[in-house]
Amino acid sequence: MFISRFAPSPTGLLHLGHAYSALLTQNLVTRNSGTLHLRIEDIDITRCTPDFEKQIYRDLEWLGVQWESTPLRQSEELSVYKNSLKQLVDKGLVYGCDCTRSDIKKALSAPNNLANDGSAMVYPGTCREKNLSLDNQNVRLNLLKSKNYLETNYINFSEQGIGPNKENGNQIFEIGWLEKKYGDFIIARKDIKTSYHLAVTIDDAKQKITHVSRGNDLFHVTPIHVILQNLLNLKTPVYVHHPLITDKNGNKLAKSKGAESILSIRNSGTTIKEIRSILGL
Ligand SMILES: [Zn+2]
Repeated sequence: MFISRFAPSPTGLLHLGHAYSALLTQNLVTRNSGTLHLRIEDIDITRCTPDFEKQIYRDLEWLGVQWESTPLRQSEELSVYKNSLKQLVDKGLVYGCDCTRSDIKKALSAPNNLANDGSAMVYPGTCREKNLSLDNQNVRLNLLKSKNYLETNYINFSEQGIGPNKENGNQIFEIGWLEKKYGDFIIARKDIKTSYHLAVTIDDAKQKITHVSRGNDLFHVTPIHVILQNLLNLKTPVYVHHPLITDKNGNKLAKSKGAESILSIRNSGTTIKEIRSILGL
């Protein structure tokens, strides 16, 4: 069985990077006589619009991407995410955190803090023992307790595509490494009571995804998804990361950096055949 998905966010118009990912995923599914699902990642309600969502369907249809059944819309799954969060609460693996960004910065600049190498702002676990309510603040995963709960120091997943540093094959991660790199990350944001990481983990399980095909900018957060799968007794799919399409200067295409949309490429008279050839597909 081979089931994959394409999961755009309706926060803007799709560009060539999206087309590349969608067409690659469709090729992969076709080669394996599999199924392709569509998922609309619209939990960020302030940034998503119905017009962008409609345009996603039009663009994908025009590109010839075909998906099975009704798309899963994350905004309709909030109670499902809440149930999963409750499982983690019941296992005692999460805690509330009322730190602001500047609180975290302050804690990190304390001279006895060794958790941070200066490269990123890693949450130092300030609220772990505070027993704050989970209702009105961010909820974080306690990685120390998670490690004890899983009774293992390692998690792993199979990479059948290629990571940013050419990673391929069985990928093993120490939970301690995860803690150093990300700290106790947020799994439920105060406002939406879920997070990207929790939502995609649950959605992949719900849509019975066997192969997650996506850009390799998400390779480095895959261990976050894998530890959540382990804690929630969900199967870990195979991951098939692909390289990103870049602009002339080697930068990742982004809506925020003015990448040309599929809609405008289409309106300028470019054919799908030409798009496929630009993308090397
Ligand atoms: Zn905190």
